Amino acid sequence: MKKCSVCKTIKSFEDFGKDKHNKNGYRSSCRECNRLYRISIKEERKIYQAKQYLNNKEEYKIKHKEWRTKNPEKVKEGAKRNIKNRARYNKKMRLTRKAKVFELYGNKCANIECGDTRQEVLTIDHINNDGYIQRKIHKVGNQFYSWIIKNKPIDLQLLCYNCNMTKAHTGKYPSKRTE
Ligand SMILES: [Zn+2]
Ligand SMILES: [Zn+2]
Repeated sequence: MKKCSVCKTIKSFEDFGKDKHNKNGYRSSCRECNRLYRISIKEERKIYQAKQYLNNKEEYKIKHKEWRTKNPEKVKEGAKRNIKNRARYNKKMRLTRKAKVFELYGNKCANIECGDTRQEVLTIDHINNDGYIQRKIHKVGNQFYSWIIKNKPIDLQLLCYNCNMTKAHTGKYPSKRTE
């Protein structure tokens, strides 16, 4: 057991990082204190950098411009990376929103005879078949999902692809589930 020099708590040696330079081979402060210290340093640095930026905005802008003209390859790389990251982020958002929307509408095909729960075949169906108009207003994908989550419209439901198509063509649901 060892007493931490910062929080003064007596903890087991496992709670201390190793340090060759110390007599007993362990750091004087515990892991948790070190972690908190690292976070505080990080925060301080962030605040410092933000202040520096606010106080020298013009200078930073000029420097940044200079850097960009000197490093066109890096600028290009950065732009590419941004596009990639944005695409990844958008996909993630679309999937979480989609999951939320599906949950909102019961996570299964609304045709009682069917009740398919396979996420990959479920589609959002407009009960009154005005999907075309709605899609025009709210766009598809991300924006459409966001709009649904916000407004929770009652004229939407989930249908599996099969039920959705059959309803679109015949105006009725298929009576039995077909794979
Ligand atoms: Zn401590
Ligand atoms: Zn179905």
